[in-house]
Amino acid sequence: MIRSRVKQSVLESARIFWVPVPLKKPFRIATMVAHQAPCVFLQLRWTDGLESWGEAAPLHSINGETGRTCFAALQDLAEWLVNQEAQPCLALLGRLMPFQHAAVSAFEMAVQDYLSQAAGLPLWRFLGPGDPDKALRTDQTISILPPPQAAEEAARIVHEGFTIIKVKLGDGVRADLARLEAIRIAVGEEVTLRVDANQAYDAIEGETLLRGLEPFGIEFIEQPVAKTDLAGMKALNDLGLVPVMADESCFSVLDGLALRGCCWGVNVKLSKSRGLAGGLAIAQLGYPSMVGGMIETRLGTTAAAHLARAHPSFQYFDLDSSLGHGADWVIGGISVRDGVVHLPDSPGLGASLDSGFLSHVAGSQVVEVRGG
Ligand SMILES: [Mg+2]
Repeated sequence: MIRSRVKQSVLESARIFWVPVPLKKPFRIATMVAHQAPCVFLQLRWTDGLESWGEAAPLHSINGETGRTCFAALQDLAEWLVNQEAQPCLALLGRLMPFQHAAVSAFEMAVQDYLSQAAGLPLWRFLGPGDPDKALRTDQTISILPPPQAAEEAARIVHEGFTIIKVKLGDGVRADLARLEAIRIAVGEEVTLRVDANQAYDAIEGETLLRGLEPFGIEFIEQPVAKTDLAGMKALNDLGLVPVMADESCFSVLDGLALRGCCWGVNVKLSKSRGLAGGLAIAQLGYPSMVGGMIETRLGTTAAAHLARAHPSFQYFDLDSSLGHGADWVIGGISVRDGVVHLPDSPGLGASLDSGFLSHVAGSQVVEVRGG
């Protein structure tokens, strides 16, 4: 019954919105300072009357994409995929645009939202058996700040009920260690600290960093070395000082296979894995895995949270990107209470955009593609 309904319905139209979302404060990581998040949304309408949503998270230092490229790529994808049924859309997305990971992930998210709505299941349940009782305890991230400000931020995060803090590194080993020391003193021993160097170091600097981090009780370090430096990553992981998690090095299952023996865990992000199915495929490799985000609003983060619940490999959660946004136009979606992410119970993604956001978007940043 459900299958025949899905089969008879085709993609009728797509609307694409490029929405620069303001940040509460500038966010600095190794190679850039961001003042806004260039989010791109996709709204699909299907001939059975259902409507579904996706979001692309372009971050040029990670996936090589920008708001402009995602906006253009989604327009092309829509022109190719209108008039298709949902399952053929998914199959085609696996072959189209091999380097536009964020744009493809937005389209895949919107098709999976549609399919799970049509099946009457929350997206996580549609994707896999999942675990309804799994607590999605997220960290909150501190960008590269001077030690006193980083310590102040850490105290604020703990006051908000979070028990895990992720700290961005990459300011030079001495500065990074000074920041970690200030944060550890500010929050005490009970708070979990994980760090992310975003490819800032080589293996020699990385070893100095890891030896310096030892007294601070670090849970794991993300991507200490360049994404292609698997030998450096292995050398650092083999030290046994701090477990090494691959992020920029791991976009796909093939990347995950190449990383065998080089790292302890992997960070899966929808805008790297080309969507939910790609994320699940990486999870099946069995690494201790994190579901992370980059610049997503609560809409994209809701999809990531569904993925997190769908597979047992996902044990670590970095779903805080929308907490730094200065505007929120998402209806439904996740809520975060005391550091724990709560998912909506409704069928599908359970998140959409309020039309109010349209007044913040230039006419040239909205486009509609209709079938015929
Ligand atoms: Mg990272």
